[in-house]
Amino acid sequence: MRPDVRSAAHKTDAFGELVCSNSLKSEQEHSAPWLLKREMRRLDSLLMKAANVARVPGGHALTVDREVFSAEITRAIETHPNITVKRQEVRALPDEGVVIVASGPLTSEPLAQEIARVTGAERLFFYDSISPIVAADSVSMNVAFRASRYGKSLDGTDDYINCPFTKDQYNLFIDELMKAESYQPHIPEDKTPYFEGCLPIEEIARRGRDTLRFGPMKPAGLDDPRTGRWAYAIVQLRQENQRADSYNLVGFQNHLRFADQARVFRLIPGLENAEFVRFGQMHRNTYINSPALLLPTLQLKTDARVFFAGQISGVEGYAESIATGLLAGRNAAAVAHGREPAVFPRATALGSLCHYITAADPRHFQPANITFDLLPALDDDAKQKFKRDKKARHGEICRRAESAFQEFLHANHSGMYCQVSG
Ligand SMILES: Cc1cc2nc3c(=O)[nH]c(=O)nc-3n(C[C@H](O)[C@H](O)[C@H](O)COP(=O)(O)OP(=O)(O)OC[C@H]3O[C@@H](n4cnc5c(N)ncnc54)[C@H](O)[C@@H]3O)c2cc1C
Repeated sequence: MRPDVRSAAHKTDAFGELVCSNSLKSEQEHSAPWLLKREMRRLDSLLMKAANVARVPGGHALTVDREVFSAEITRAIETHPNITVKRQEVRALPDEGVVIVASGPLTSEPLAQEIARVTGAERLFFYDSISPIVAADSVSMNVAFRASRYGKSLDGTDDYINCPFTKDQYNLFIDELMKAESYQPHIPEDKTPYFEGCLPIEEIARRGRDTLRFGPMKPAGLDDPRTGRWAYAIVQLRQENQRADSYNLVGFQNHLRFADQARVFRLIPGLENAEFVRFGQMHRNTYINSPALLLPTLQLKTDARVFFAGQISGVEGYAESIATGLLAGRNAAAVAHGREPAVFPRATALGSLCHYITAADPRHFQPANITFDLLPALDDDAKQKFKRDKKARHGEICRRAESAFQEFLHANHSGMYCQVSG
């Protein structure tokens, strides 16, 4: 619908716009996000290819230049001979044809109302928040230093800029943060659930003076070259784009007033003269109660013509949204060609993600990121074998996923999953 109808967070009219962080999460071998991305790459994901082209240094994470990333996707879609792009707000679901609803966390109000009507839901949203970005040349590098936690960097460089606090500086920062004013949410506080994996920092600080120091401001594994020790607390800045001219404050999503953000965040050592390219903001997150509504193929139980994908299908995060988009797209193509839609094996990351959003308890459903908790536990023998070694347990889960994935591809190789690379 962009650019004619805008959302509260999108800034461009390009496809695949990343509205907050520029990270598609870990690339560390045998981590759950790595496994999910690996499976998507095996299925020739367009967005994974775009991410490779747009990659910027980000420790063990897959971080991208957001402009290059979305330009790649936009070019591929706009020049595809079978795709007609119509830029308009969809206000009602089409009555015929195969449909994928992928209108995201900021689905416009008329469509949200239509989806609520079709699904019989009372309300489709909760609140989430985004972190600020600063100009690179406004960071004082005589205070801040470059390092990756425990030296873990994919390409051997020190990818993050780190702003180290002494105990006094941290206490002053917390005092001022607690005094800062928030924007009032549009619905009353007690009815505003947050996504626990993306809490605003002022909410984390309210849970205890040291909670930030053990969360997004944890100093562990970051030796300050000036003292040779870990600081009392750290704020990490992650590179935003390939030009490396802006950095985001990792984990600093918040919904404080902009003037208060500028005042309080300039108390961060190294950011005394920070120029803010963007401030943190709070946003609505729209999603359906998918366990009650969707089949594991991502089709609506009451109308198999309609698929849901992306954040609105009850997943949380860029990579997870891309994953459900990939599966819904392939399944919608299968249905359109009169073939059976596929369910990926439960042992795979793709299968487990779809299993979670369609089989969780619908009474307490919360969107989820990909984690090993979503994948089936190892059997008792394997648990015993790798009892003391978490890394080996994760490695085993990944090996099991890989073999289930291979088997699935062999069984389906004549169908829509035949175009497989890697
Ligand atoms: C502010 C914000 C910050 C986020 N930060 C992160 C983060 O840091 N890391 C992370 O992993 N995830 C983050 N997320 C969560 C989520 O992973 C991303 O929003 C992701 O982009 C979701 O992908 P999507 O394709 O489902 O939706 P989107 O990328 O939002 O795409 C949906 C598209 O549908 C369009 N649309 C909406 N309504 C209509 C309509 N009625 N008619 C036509 N078009 C419509 C929108 O304009 C948009 O272009 C954030 C979400 C928000 C809103």
